Amino acid sequence: MKRRNFLITAALAVLLAGAFGQGRVAVLAATSGVIYAPGVKQPASAGETSGPVQIPEISEAPGTAYTIAGQETQSTVTAAPAAATETAFAASGEIVTKNGYKNGDLIGLNASWQYAGFSKINSGTAVMYTAFANRKNRIIAVNAGHGTRGGESVRTYCHPDQTPKVTGGSTAAGSITATAVSTGMSFKDGTPERAVTLRMAQILKEKLLQAGYDVLMIRDGEDVQLDNIARTVISNNTADCHIALHWDGDGLSYDKGVYYMSVPDRLKQMEPVASHWQMHEALGNALIGGLFAKGIKVWGSNPLDTDLTQTSYSTIPSVDIELGNQCSDHSDGRLDLEAEGLLAGINSYFGFN
Ligand SMILES: [Zn+2]
Repeated sequence: MKRRNFLITAALAVLLAGAFGQGRVAVLAATSGVIYAPGVKQPASAGETSGPVQIPEISEAPGTAYTIAGQETQSTVTAAPAAATETAFAASGEIVTKNGYKNGDLIGLNASWQYAGFSKINSGTAVMYTAFANRKNRIIAVNAGHGTRGGESVRTYCHPDQTPKVTGGSTAAGSITATAVSTGMSFKDGTPERAVTLRMAQILKEKLLQAGYDVLMIRDGEDVQLDNIARTVISNNTADCHIALHWDGDGLSYDKGVYYMSVPDRLKQMEPVASHWQMHEALGNALIGGLFAKGIKVWGSNPLDTDLTQTSYSTIPSVDIELGNQCSDHSDGRLDLEAEGLLAGINSYFGFN
């Protein structure tokens, strides 16, 4: 929105907050701004938005331009109908991320974002969470791997230039298209990978928020209808880095340790990889360093060159980290230790330690 309008609206909000005072305020627009791509259905009511108690919001004008990680992007913030409910005054001031998002905002794929047109599954939304204290003004996209029903029966281009995949994985080398979102592996005890990546994301989110990072939860529940391209493009346009959490289905009978997936040399001339692979590797190395410092075993072949949809479309530092395999302990205690390691790596990458 225009600066002047923003100031007027902000001043009005302050006046209204003062008028209601006494620790309670009427919520004039207790809803979150949601960014939708054209044709994406909007939620039926503001009540679907979860998250801590909302305080009065300043309406965003459509077409707000954000500058994130050197990129000029265009987005439309859709204000939901005003709700006449009352709520406790939760904080002394409204916390907004550096690119204008509030706690609990739902963020869908904007069709105008670079590479958005390559996505096939994008009716879902990611959720923004803001830190209340020690604010670092960095947004971490936490991507709980897998968990998109129907994703295995849809295919998307492996690379934005539609060249064939150079290494195997869920999809074989030589293929032009790959599974939009694969099902994921199963642990030896039968637990599906998608359940453990979600639990890991939730534990990591809490640690990041406490440390002062804002967190974009790409998948905030059992399922999100966002394919790997949509997850990547949303991260590109709203976060400072993108960390996808996975466990490896390698068939081994022992836990080989953690590693991250680096970009194969053959892709390093292709954009956007050419301009970003060094950032991916710096972040990956920082994460592995953080995990190692917590006493977590690192696989001898780390990092493993892998042609991933994620890194082929990433324009921010972006890593697929494999936190073990089907033999790994996936108790909360173990996940908590791994989250500590990842947090240490993130602090190191952004220079906060
Ligand atoms: Zn996985």
